[in-house]
Amino acid sequence: MTDKISTGGDIDAYCTKCKLNLEHFVLAIVAGAVVKVKCKTCGSIHRFKGTPAARPKATKKESTSSRTFVSVQAQWEAAIDSARGPELTYDMKSSFQDGDLIVHNSFGKGVVLKTYFGKCSVLFRDKERLLATSNT
Ligand SMILES: [Zn+2]
Repeated sequence: MTDKISTGGDIDAYCTKCKLNLEHFVLAIVAGAVVKVKCKTCGSIHRFKGTPAARPKATKKESTSSRTFVSVQAQWEAAIDSARGPELTYDMKSSFQDGDLIVHNSFGKGVVLKTYFGKCSVLFRDKERLLATSNT
């Protein structure tokens, strides 16, 4: 252990990228204080921070490609939560009511959103589907 810090030496610092206290290379020292370090783990160069600095939360990243799917799934989860039990097995010879929880052979669990004559719209995990029923 050496207590003398020099450029190129090691120092424990908070990596803003890894979000952990990790070993860093000292890149720059100003007036005896380390100002710039390079993370040995991810290789990112940042200002020396001994402790996590209080900084505003980074803007939430959301991939546009999965947004539709995520929102349908969130809707579906909420619908399942508030659906009436018990789970009814889907059968086109049965009739269902709004809010019924049904289980379909291929689509899995779904919640009846709306019923029509001879069919009903059901929200499944991936999307909403129209299913034939005996609704009148
Ligand atoms: Zn890092």
